Formats: sequence, structure tokens, C-alpha cells
Amino acid sequence: MDLKNFKLTSPSDFTIGILGGGQLGKMIAMECRKLGINVVCLDPKENAPASLVCKQITGKLNDKEKIIELNNQVDIITYEIEHIDTEILKEVLPEDKVYPSIQILEIIQDKYQQRCFFKKNNIPVPEFFELNSPDDIKKYIPCVQKTKKGGYDGRGVIVVKSEKDLDKVLTEDSYIESFVDIEKELATIVVRNIKGNIKVYPIVEMIFNPEGNLLDYLLVPADIDEKLHKLAQEISISAVESLDGVGVFGVELFLTKKGEILLNEVAPRVHNSGHHTIEACETSQFEQLVRVLTNLPLGSTYQYIPAALINLLGEKGYKGKPFYENLDKVLTIDGVYVHIYGKKETFPFRKMGHITILDRDRNLLVEKTKVIKSLIKVKGEVKI
Ligand code: ADP
Repeated sequence: MDLKNFKLTSPSDFTIGILGGGQLGKMIAMECRKLGINVVCLDPKENAPASLVCKQITGKLNDKEKIIELNNQVDIITYEIEHIDTEILKEVLPEDKVYPSIQILEIIQDKYQQRCFFKKNNIPVPEFFELNSPDDIKKYIPCVQKTKKGGYDGRGVIVVKSEKDLDKVLTEDSYIESFVDIEKELATIVVRNIKGNIKVYPIVEMIFNPEGNLLDYLLVPADIDEKLHKLAQEISISAVESLDGVGVFGVELFLTKKGEILLNEVAPRVHNSGHHTIEACETSQFEQLVRVLTNLPLGSTYQYIPAALINLLGEKGYKGKPFYENLDKVLTIDGVYVHIYGKKETFPFRKMGHITILDRDRNLLVEKTKVIKSLIKVKGEVKI
């Protein structure tokens, strides 16, 4: 498809394909629907969250025939997860039909390659080293061992603070990073279209749940000074430009105790740290993606009001059909926006939904967020 010269005049004749039909696919599809554009997703699980709002082809993401079936029904393709076999995509999909490009996906899927790429492009990243044998880890302590491929949400990452941690070392193909003294974990969303126009959102501050190493809540704009805010945005933009990226990119950063900003990683897709853009910003990250994929002009990233976001994670000790405890109580509070993804089953730490909280007063915002976090629980039919 010649995206550069494409002009959307008849949305109902245009179809976007999404590899993956989870919550991100669902929220992309909702934005397509708003503009009257058709959507088809491919997901291995029947009744995937996106199927609530779009057509689903049920099949594995590495099933050539299913990908071809998707390709035959759509004008352009994007993806909502990174763990897809790029060799298969290259074999069955035309190069100019997938955004962000398959080449970008390849660079990003391998964390070591990603680090090498950004370092070569003068983007500040943590120091990192190739690991020839697990015995070599000792000489880098304190350090972080990361699997090159397949890790997500903290899986495939171990911190080796002392020799006592050596029994945890990973046996998969991995590399080493210097341990960064992190002051804050930051993130943002960068949007870039086929013409090279670029937009960046205000910087988000992420607060992690130490137990599951999943995002606990996020606050935006981050509580950092203006200079750092700007620097974080500039580094994020440079990272996406160096990739020649076309699409929406989640960019994760570290603010070190020394006051440096380092790039942690880039996700070539809409991202959990951009969900607040639906309610808090002029144009959501999902609408931006739809605009990129249809060659419509990018929208403003202006944020009207401070926002917080909590993920609704499956409670420990439960699985099966989910129940959302205190949903009614939470919704008596002003400025609260509940998103439930529609997953049929919960399990500990599974992302079942999220809540965006808005308030002009930052102190009240944090207070409200903590109250909501303590109220709402995703329990399941089965105790485990
Ligand atoms: P994932 O892709 O699974 O989210 P990350 O590479 O982002 O994995 O690492 C997960 C978490 O581990 C980060 O959010 C951060 O808290 C910590 N971490 C990662 N790299 C380093 C590092 N070099 N130094 C200190 N902590 C790190």
C-alpha cells in the first residue's frame, strides 16, 4: 500500500488489521470504530478482548495461513504485541503493508540488538556487555542479567546485587547491563507518521509494584523539573527518529540518581503508559495510531489535566471467571474512568483492566488513586 500518497475519503471502505486481539487491540479498534473504519484482528484465543468491538480471526500469530487470511481482508496491518515471528511476517506480508516496519520489530525483539542499535545512534543507554558464559557474571556485580528475547513485564530480567544472587542467574541467551541507580522510571509515547512528522506526550512517572514487578500506578506529568522533562522528550524523539519509525511507540526511560536520562526500551506499539491519553489528552495514543495508519494528520498531544493510572491486576489467590469488587464504590468518585478489558478469566497479576483518574490538584489526585487502589479488587471464581 502506498501510504505516503494515500488519502482517506471513505473510511467504511478501509480496514485495519491487528496482529493480536488483547486490550491494546481492543482500544485501537474502538478508535477505528469512532472514525467509521473497519477492523479485523488475529488472536489465538476465541473471544479475545478486541472481538468485543471488531471481527476476529482465531488463529496463532505464527500461523502463516491465518496471517494470509488476515492480509486478504485488510488494507494495512499493525500489531499489539512484539513477540511475533518476524521471519513468517516477512515471508507472507508485503513490506509496505506493516507499520511499524518488520525491521523495527526485529531490532526491538532482541534487547541486546536494541541496546547496540541505540548506542550506535548516540542515544544514552545503560552500559551493557555481551555474556559469553554465566560464570562471567561475577565480574560485573552489581548488574542486571537480561534475556535477549522473549522477556516482558519484568520476566527475563534478574538483578544480581551480590554473589548471593548468582543462583538465580538465567540460562537463556542473555546479556549483562550495569546496575543503574534509578531515581525514577519514566515513560512517554512518541508518534511518527510516514512523512516524518512527530509528536510526543508529556512524561509519565511510573511506580512499580515490587512483588509482581508490574506497574503499580503512573502519574503524569512526572514530578521532575522542566529541563529534565524536555530532555526526556528529546531523547524519546531521537530514539524513534533513529529507527525511522512509523507508528506509535512506547518509550521507557530511567532517570538516574546522578540526574541523567537513559533510554531503557522502546515498544513499537501503543503502550500501557499511554492509556491516560484517552481521557486526559486532546488526542489519544490509539487515535494517533489510526491517524498514522490512514495518513491523516497527527493530533495534538496537549494534556488538559493531571492524570494517574492504575492497572487492574488479578488478585493473588484467585483464578477463573473474574469479579470486580467495589466497582460501584469507585464510580462514586469524580474524575474516574474504568476500563475493563473483557478477559474471560483472571489469574494472579493478569492485566484485567485499568482505571484513569483525573484531578487538577496533584495531591488530591494521588490521594484518590490510593483510595481507588485499595478499594478495587479483581477476584476470581476459583480460589487457588
Ligand atoms: P521488561 O521489558 O520485562 O519490562 P526491563 O528491561 O524494562 O524489562 O526491566 C524491568 C525492570 O527492571 C525495569 O523496569 C527496572 O525496574 C529494572 N531494571 C532494568 N534494567 C535495569 C538496570 N540496568 N539497572 C537497574 N534496574 C534495571
